[in-house]
Amino acid sequence: MTPAPPPPPRRGALGLLYLALRLRCPHCASGPVFDRARQRTNCPECGYRFERESGYFLGAMVVSNAVIGVVALIVMLVLIFTGRSPLVAVGLPILTALVAMPLFLPFSRTIWMALDLRFDPPNDDDFGNAGAGTSRPAGSG
Ligand SMILES: [Zn+2]
Repeated sequence: MTPAPPPPPRRGALGLLYLALRLRCPHCASGPVFDRARQRTNCPECGYRFERESGYFLGAMVVSNAVIGVVALIVMLVLIFTGRSPLVAVGLPILTALVAMPLFLPFSRTIWMALDLRFDPPNDDDFGNAGAGTSRPAGSG
């Protein structure tokens, strides 16, 4: 069992957002999270496992829906107050949201990982292959 790397330096909200927008590992800040369009399972630099548990990236959907929803609402209000027709004022934000969702997906995942790491620091189980570094006592199953 290899011990977990030392904890990352404590970053502020802007530092975490900067890392997330660069699509870098939220733990070591240097490993790329994506290999072209595919998400890696572990950080190539520190071994941090990106999907910490089953269903982990449901939080990324919340981030994506919140950000895109706010942007669509702002676009809609601007269109309404500039006198556009109701069809344009409602249709254009919906169309924009549909186009923006897949484009924003990688960023919503890295933003979610940064937020999660901020409030739930990693332990030994979050590094390396799943199950390879567990700290379960011998003879317990
Ligand atoms: Zn890393």
